[in-house]
Formats: sequence, C-alpha cells, structure tokens
Amino acid sequence: MASFNAQDGAFFFSGSSILTRDGGGLASPPDLAGEFPGSVTFRVSDLSGGTVACVDVPENAALPPGWKSEEVRRILPLVLEDSAGPLRAFHFAQWRRDSAFCGTCGGPNRDCEDGTSRFCPACGRVEFPRITPAIIVLIENGSGEILLARNRKFAPGMYSLVAGFTEAGETLEQTVIREVREEVGLELADIRYEASQPWPFPASLMVGFSARYSGGEIRPDGVEIEDAGWFGPAGLPKLPGPGSVGRLLIDRWLGGQLRHTHSQK
Ligand SMILES: [Zn+2]
Repeated sequence: MASFNAQDGAFFFSGSSILTRDGGGLASPPDLAGEFPGSVTFRVSDLSGGTVACVDVPENAALPPGWKSEEVRRILPLVLEDSAGPLRAFHFAQWRRDSAFCGTCGGPNRDCEDGTSRFCPACGRVEFPRITPAIIVLIENGSGEILLARNRKFAPGMYSLVAGFTEAGETLEQTVIREVREEVGLELADIRYEASQPWPFPASLMVGFSARYSGGEIRPDGVEIEDAGWFGPAGLPKLPGPGSVGRLLIDRWLGGQLRHTHSQK
C-alpha cells in the first residue's frame, strides 16, 4: 500500500467513500478534481502547521476510468496503523456538508483559510467540527468471561461490547454506568479508561473502558439489544472486524493485555 503522505495530493471523498486511483495510494493529484464535475476543493489543517487538500465529490458522480470507490470504514485498520490524517479529512468533509449555513443567522458559511473551522461573514460566528463522544466498555465477570451483546442492527450472529453516546451533562464514566444499566441491566465497579479512537461515521470519538461486573442479572432491553451473555475465550461468537476500538479491547483481553485487570472481589 502506498503511503498516506498528502503533501502533494488530495483526499477525494464522495459520501461515505474515498475515491482512489489504481495503485495510487489514498491521496491523488488535486488537479484531477476536474474529472469530477460539481466537486469542491477545500483544505483541512493537519494539526502540525500544514494543511491537506480534500475534494468533495457529489455522491452520484460517475467514476472516471482508473478510479475506484471504497467505504472509508473498510480501510480503517489501514488508516489507523499509519496516520489519522485521512480520518480527520473525512470527518471534515462530512461536517462541511452539514454546516453549509450559520446556525445563528442562517447565512452561508465559508471555509477558514487555516482549515480548522468555518465562519459566517454575516454575523461572525465561527463553527468547529462537531465531535460526539461515545463510550464502549469491556465488562469482566471475575470468572474469565466478558459481556457481549447483540444489537438489532448488527450483521447476523455478530456480538460486541456495550456502547452508547454520552448525554449532555454526563461524565464518560456516568455514560458507561447508564448505558450498561439501560441496555443489559447490570451494575459495574472499577471503571477504567483503556483506549480511544476517532470514529467519523459521522462524528464520534469512541472512548474505550474496562469495568468489573458488580451486580444484577442480564436483561437485554429488547429495543436496541436483543441478546446478551457472558462469553469465555473458547466460546466467542462472531465479533466486529479488526480496526474498531471494541475489537481492540476484546483482543487485549484475550491476550492478557488490558491496561487494567479486574480481579473478582
Ligand atoms: Zn451568521
């Protein structure tokens, strides 16, 4: 795979996909934007003093010969290994589409030149990309098992860790407690931070925790969660693919490499 260095290139995004040329890596020459009528080129700061170019291509645009389209989600493990640049650019491209107008006066927003924000020339309001925190938690029961739950929206047979969005006014730890209580009816102790991951689908920051089961019987909420149970290493169901922080936590647990271990009390 070619490098993600975008100094002389641009990321081409279309909806939830990245457009690349055969054998060309993730960034392409910016002047190729001319091959996509209706596309818009803008710049995003790389958080170290520079900017990278992005081209937002209309979702229904035809692919010229030699180009291919790939869901950004699917290249995630590759992106995370190298640099967060493409993920940041993708987050921006999506937010840009959703921030065409000022939330205060309704005037059209413009891009700031430094690639960190947009502003409204009519009233001066500056808008930054929205980032929505969400938690995901690996719960150990003290008998060598973890809690896995099946969301109704998952692919058939797949289970993962309990996850959910932070509500206004909550700490991340409070989100962990509330989500687990709501979705599976369990109580927790020893909630510890493990890892985090930008998850721009469309605007999340996933924050991974581990915790110890401390009480309650498993009761799937029947709305989001249709099944949940304790699973040991030998009997794991189908899990999310590599590249998600949920899978990272499960893999760390399997390898005895969680940052925090939770012995039963
Ligand atoms: Zn305004």
